[in-house]
Order: sequence, then structure tokens, then C-alpha cells
Amino acid sequence: MGIQTALDALKDRLRASDRMPVVFLGHGSPMNALEETGHARTWAALGQSLQRPQAILVVSAHWMTRGTTLVDVSAYPRTIHDFHGFPQPLYDMQYPAPGHPDLAREVASLLASHHVEGDESWGLDHGSWSVLTWLYPESDVPVFQLSIDMSKDLDWHLEIGKHLSALRDRGVLILGSGNVVHNLRAMRPGGVALDWAEEFDRLVADRLEERDIAALADRAGLGALLTMAHPTLDHYLPALTVAGAAEAGDALTFMNDSIDFGSVSMRSFVFHDQ
Ligand code: ZN
Repeated sequence: MGIQTALDALKDRLRASDRMPVVFLGHGSPMNALEETGHARTWAALGQSLQRPQAILVVSAHWMTRGTTLVDVSAYPRTIHDFHGFPQPLYDMQYPAPGHPDLAREVASLLASHHVEGDESWGLDHGSWSVLTWLYPESDVPVFQLSIDMSKDLDWHLEIGKHLSALRDRGVLILGSGNVVHNLRAMRPGGVALDWAEEFDRLVADRLEERDIAALADRAGLGALLTMAHPTLDHYLPALTVAGAAEAGDALTFMNDSIDFGSVSMRSFVFHDQ
């Protein structure tokens, strides 16, 4: 299914639902924030297709914590330019959306069994704003981030998603931002997709299609392919949290299913009502 067809289908299906979808976006290069790439156009079209959320909870690959999960309870999250060597206009970009301290504190309670605490030191890193600037260009939907605890294994991040899924009935858009395949060392400008990158990307897509979500957190089953696709797990974990927030009856739509620079999968997916 082409991107436009997939988005048209999504738009039709979403029309009558009160239950928010859950979304995972492959964000790739920060330059996607600045340039109107095909990926960016898809994000813009998705923003127009979704029912307007009351708030957005973002799980970004770029907010890593250890031993605790933090949730941003600030009233005005700052825009963080967490990258080096990019053109000045990217550093000039701001995403001045308000936060949602009350809801963020509720999320901390919802996840109390998972050592979650409020925090005001972070804000919005580029994993969030590089996609939100296309999804909601007016920056008028309250948004706050939840960190990923790098000391915890894969199933922990699935579980976080399961707990968060209750928010879907309250108008909250759960948005994961990372990449299904993310190996920066293997990256080559203009490079064709590497075999193992395609293989892992396909594996993730197949398990999602089959709703075999547990398999995505099974280290032994994923084997060496997981380490090749993700030398570090930060860009994979948000996909697990989003998959964990899916329900058995959800429909699944893929977008941007291409591989950039040989080893960065831009595959994005939405779980939504039938
Ligand atoms: Zn990233």
C-alpha cells in the first residue's frame, strides 16, 4: 500500500472513534525537521488525519535515564537542540507547545510501580520536536516527554506501554519516536539498505502484523540481529512502549517504510480502532 493510500485509509477509519491511536515514528536525521522530505510530508498528513488530542505524551529515544523513569512536569517544556554539526537554522527552531503538568503527574502515579518521578530539567529533545513540528505545526497541543530507563530490559518497556494504554480513552496521543533499525556506525550517505537492516525491519513489521508483541522483547529470539540493528537500544525502546500500548483488536497501518543511509529504518506505525 502506498503512503498516500495508507493515510487515506487511516483517515477513513479514524473518523468515528473516540479512542486515540498510538503512534510510533521513525525520526532519522534531525534535518527532517527542517526539510520537507517525503517522511516529513507523511508526518504532516498524519497530523491532519488524527483526531485532535487533548495532550501528547512522547517517549523519545533521546531522553535516556538509568534506574528511574522521569516524566516532564514543567508548564513550558524548553526546546532542546541535542545534536552537533548541523546548519544554524536547525538550532534556531523552537517548538513552544505548553506542557501538561497535571496530566504528567497523573502519569507518574499511573506508573508508580515502575519508579516514575516528575522532572523539570529536560523538555523537548529533537526526537519530539523534529516530528511534532510537522504533526502539529501550530504547537498548540500540550506535550510532555517520558524518559526511557536504560537500566531496564526490553519487556519493561513493553509493560510501560501496557500501563499507559489507559490514557488512550482520555484523548491522550501516545507517541514513540525512535527508529526500528538504528546503527549509526554502519550508516553510509546514499547507501542502499544493508541486508541485516532489511531483515530486522521486516522481522519487526511481521511480528507487529501478527500481534506477537512479546517476540519483540525476546532477546534470545531476536538474537544477533538485534545487536546489529541496535548497537544501543535507545531508538528501539520507544517502539516497544508503543507496541505495548496496542490492544488486540487494534488495526495496524505502516508508513515511511524505507531505510535511510543503509542502516536507519524510517518505518512508522499506527495502532488504531478498526
Ligand atoms: Zn534519534
